[in-house]
Amino acid sequence: MSFTDIIQNYSDFDYSSYFSSIKKDDILKVLNKSKLDINDYLALLSPAASECLEEMAQRANRLSIQHFGKTVLLYTPMYLSNYCVNKCLYCSFNAEHNIKRKKLDECEIEKEAISISKTGIKHILLLTGESRQATPVSYILSAVKILKKYFQSISIEIYPLTGEEYRQMVDAGVDGLTIYQEVYDEDIYKKVHVKGPKKDYHFRLKAPERACEQKIRTVNIGALLGLSNWRQEAFITGLHASYLQGAYPDVEVSISLPRIRPHVGRFDDIYPVGDRELVQILLAFKNFIPFGGVTISTREEQAFRDKLVPLGVTKMSAGVMTSVGGHSTKNEETSQFEIGDTRSVEEMKKAIFDIGYQPIFKDWLTL
Ligand code: SF4
Repeated sequence: MSFTDIIQNYSDFDYSSYFSSIKKDDILKVLNKSKLDINDYLALLSPAASECLEEMAQRANRLSIQHFGKTVLLYTPMYLSNYCVNKCLYCSFNAEHNIKRKKLDECEIEKEAISISKTGIKHILLLTGESRQATPVSYILSAVKILKKYFQSISIEIYPLTGEEYRQMVDAGVDGLTIYQEVYDEDIYKKVHVKGPKKDYHFRLKAPERACEQKIRTVNIGALLGLSNWRQEAFITGLHASYLQGAYPDVEVSISLPRIRPHVGRFDDIYPVGDRELVQILLAFKNFIPFGGVTISTREEQAFRDKLVPLGVTKMSAGVMTSVGGHSTKNEETSQFEIGDTRSVEEMKKAIFDIGYQPIFKDWLTL
């Protein structure tokens, strides 16, 4: 069964009735199981489970330490370009926003790479706006060639590619893919993606699988929290991770929990997700898939990020600039969104040690 079929099976599911049938005792029973199924995961996303966050946290903490130790991998995003042909209502890079556009040339990419690598970072996430015209596959491949000189792991967060294009990326040395569906609810997806190729919901939905088929090492998926009902979005995200992990056991599957941040342009149709709700999503996922990774970006404030670490966070960004070339030049006008945690790599390293965890710079080596 494809993941599209799996989502389809839940299209008429009565989430409200299911959630109201779940009581606190049901949650405690779920937490006593050694292995959770899909229904258990959904129960952990219920209002009843929000009364059991402490119990969920204890189990998540224990299982996460069993699988990952007390470690957090640090990485830095590097923005290559903010040219974008899409009109996504929640993003500064929206093609119709009148912002300064920039794309790094090869010299600037190298300069940026040198600047980031001096901080000790070994894992890099390469990002662009979504424009095949401004940043074609050949441009990304050239950037990867430069970045390989400075980093042990290169992930990409760009427009969805075809299988053949993912193969070219893997052959060039890309080992990780981050791609968010943004919102799994197809009707809302159509509303918030007003114009551009990103309107193709299914091409994007199948992108992680196309990359897995080409033997990418890691895949990181997620929904942009705030675009739809968080319980349903978190549930489908977990289903997606579980599907990918089952179908491609060699691939390391992670989820991210990005919440909408202030950005250029106005978007009022937000489904608020508070801190407690974000914690519940994280705990539900870690209890369901203890060996799944969780990334928390600098969209979150520093004090909150630090509190999340023992709950099962495995990867965090550090020394982040969301502007193009922001590590080697001052270019604030082109930021994708406002960040909540501006700590340098050194400060993040210290913060993680202070929590009693070990910051990791390299957990992978290309031979
Ligand atoms: S979310 Fe991505 S595709 Fe949409 S406007 Fe921003 S950069 Fe472009």
